[in-house]
Amino acid sequence: MSTVAVEVVYRGIFQKTLARNIVRSIVFAARKEGKYGTAFGRYGDSPERNGIPAKQFAIVADDAEELEENLAVYEAQEVDVTINVDDTMCKGIESWAWYGLQPINALTKPGGTLIVTSRQETDALIEDIHRKDEPYNLSVLTSVPSFSGLWVYKDDHTDVRILGALAKVCPQLVSLESMVEAIQDQGWDDLKVRSAERAYERAGLRPVEPGEGNDETPFTFDLPGWTTMEEGLVIRGIEQGGGFRGAEGGYQPVRNSVFKKYSTRSMRPIVNFETCIKCTLCWLQCPDTCFDVTPDGLYDANLESCCGCGVCEAVCPVPECVTMINEAEFNDNASQYEAWQQNPEGYKQWMASLIEGEKKVERTHGFHHVGGYDEQLAAAGED
Ligand code: SF4
Ligand code: SF4
Repeated sequence: MSTVAVEVVYRGIFQKTLARNIVRSIVFAARKEGKYGTAFGRYGDSPERNGIPAKQFAIVADDAEELEENLAVYEAQEVDVTINVDDTMCKGIESWAWYGLQPINALTKPGGTLIVTSRQETDALIEDIHRKDEPYNLSVLTSVPSFSGLWVYKDDHTDVRILGALAKVCPQLVSLESMVEAIQDQGWDDLKVRSAERAYERAGLRPVEPGEGNDETPFTFDLPGWTTMEEGLVIRGIEQGGGFRGAEGGYQPVRNSVFKKYSTRSMRPIVNFETCIKCTLCWLQCPDTCFDVTPDGLYDANLESCCGCGVCEAVCPVPECVTMINEAEFNDNASQYEAWQQNPEGYKQWMASLIEGEKKVERTHGFHHVGGYDEQLAAAGED
């Protein structure tokens, strides 16, 4: 059997066209070689939403029967190549489909390949990616995000770069020549062809051994089976008075215990508790009710429920009191307020270095993105 399956994991809405360009081009290229293929999204169970990890697939087979046989499943059980178009999803993904946290390489078959777009070093990414019991390969596509901190397709050419790299790391799928023809057939310009060819030349593989990587056990929970489901649709309300912390003071809203939302974000807010004027705007405006009110009336972003939208940064009236920072900088969802209480000076220094680093990297966020992509490219030595 010679079916090759590829999944593209992307951030909902913002990267949808990027993902579609990739899977569709794979099928176009496969047809150039007389193969059969199909491309589809796996998002039929609920609406796609901003930033939520979602998937599209391309399945390529030698003949129509084989393709049909492999399509008789809702979602591929394993894939030859996983493509992750936002490196912050290396920490795992949680879709609206209620799985808990799924490792980014969960479907990557033994000996398969994970391609990641990133500015980070390969070893730093491996620290984030959950361990597997079988070996696989990692291929990092170095490129500068061009749209609000995300890789898309117009300026940064991530679609064709992925296609070029894919032809190199998975030669059994399609050749570079077929990829180039598929790019040309879609009326994309010569610059895009060159980007694909350069990505092909540069793409490398880093073997990842069993047991290498993040040893965290991904967050999970028991899904109800057919016999344990309740009658009707039950959406539990928040209990009366729920969330008040009693004598200790403060308020922590009651939240969904199974849907955490944190894998949605590519950036997270950090709060300067010393300059906060307790205006309440972040608490009022956060669309996900993420702020816990501390006993002394400060606002601590609950990082298990924060989806990284950036509204709190946008509404905070105090400069650099709330700052969005690249999610790749963090390894846990611990309370910032508790860290600040335990060591105010250490917290201050940690926060200052993160803000300083953010300014250098210029991974911008939707609310504050003001362009500057050409300057970023020049600084990175890319063209
Ligand atoms: S980024 Fe801020 S406003 Fe958006 S979900 Fe997180 S805490 Fe709430
Ligand atoms: S918006 Fe800023 S100043 Fe106002 S409470 Fe939130 S963190 Fe403090």
